[in-house]
Amino acid sequence: MSTALYTPTRDELAELLQGEPRYRLDQVWSGLYTQLAAPAELTNVPKALRERLTAELPHSLTQVVRQVNDNGDTVKYLWELHDGSRVETVLMVYPDRVTVCVSSQAGCAMACGFCATGQAGFTRQLTVGEIVEQVVIAARDARAMGRRLANVVYMGMGEPMANEATVWASVERLHGAIGLSARHLTISTVGLIPGIRTLAQRPLPVNLAVSLHAANDTLRDELVPINKRYPLDELMKACGEYLEAKGRRLSFEWALIDGVNDRPSDAAELATLCRRFRLPAHVNLIPLNPTPGYPTVGSPKSKVQAFHTRLTDLGVNATVRRNRGTDIDAACGQLAAGQPVVLRKDRPLPDAS
Ligand code: SAH
Repeated sequence: MSTALYTPTRDELAELLQGEPRYRLDQVWSGLYTQLAAPAELTNVPKALRERLTAELPHSLTQVVRQVNDNGDTVKYLWELHDGSRVETVLMVYPDRVTVCVSSQAGCAMACGFCATGQAGFTRQLTVGEIVEQVVIAARDARAMGRRLANVVYMGMGEPMANEATVWASVERLHGAIGLSARHLTISTVGLIPGIRTLAQRPLPVNLAVSLHAANDTLRDELVPINKRYPLDELMKACGEYLEAKGRRLSFEWALIDGVNDRPSDAAELATLCRRFRLPAHVNLIPLNPTPGYPTVGSPKSKVQAFHTRLTDLGVNATVRRNRGTDIDAACGQLAAGQPVVLRKDRPLPDAS
């Protein structure tokens, strides 16, 4: 497919509208990104042009399933892309904010054993249009609930820093066209150092989240295989550089796995790591969500609490994340786009290009 509704930049759209009066560009651009409308709904645009745009700029996403839980406050979308690949998006409505969790790849090559997307493997990179349309549809749905979507987290399927250029193009679009503040955009990475370094050079100060899960290389090699290529010390240095360049918030994700990374010694190691690299990180604790391919369970509530207290006592800022969407497999690490998940222990080290 050559192009799609949310793929063209403003200049590319201008080219498409050549021969039309100048003001059409504003009408169509703000129709797409401010009104969050499809071309067919742009009643201020002549019918012939609406039809041409509808034909030339097809939607990227076809809805397969839309599941709702938490009394309507969590919505999981399963999309089919033009080539049959499937990805998921999760909209989360909180009393004080609305957040959408977007996918950046169909599948994921990083092979973290405890993550359903990692268990399913990599299919392909998403395009700008495919990423941006996830946000537009979620924003539309939020608006129908009388709410405004302001936060985007790149924490759905895929590894954003393995698709950095496209992810960045989507960030610019969300910021420039929809008007989302960079401070409300968070990119999560398994720890791809080249991607973090590139991101540090980018002009907008987005938040960086790093999926840490372990504070020593032996355990992290096991949980997050790419750690063998980008070990902790290097990763912490790159995080420090990011903080220095951006002055933005850095957070570490820590999925608490029973008996694996929830011991007092794990908390102590994490505190030491933060201190050693002088990283004022905020740690998000998420009790591991169940996935078909991983036998170990999440830490029980008491251990989650104990871990949290221990970190706080050691001077590390941490919060326990409320778990959204577990009933509909929409929680962290559960997105598999309906793929059957097979645990493959023999998978080679992922290619982190
Ligand atoms: N690939 C990126 C973006 C995915 S974000 C990254 O790794 O950061 C999804 C977050 O959920 C990551 O922090 C991931 O480590 C975490 N996660 C994966 N599987 C999980 C599970 N089963 N339970 C809880 N969190 C999980």
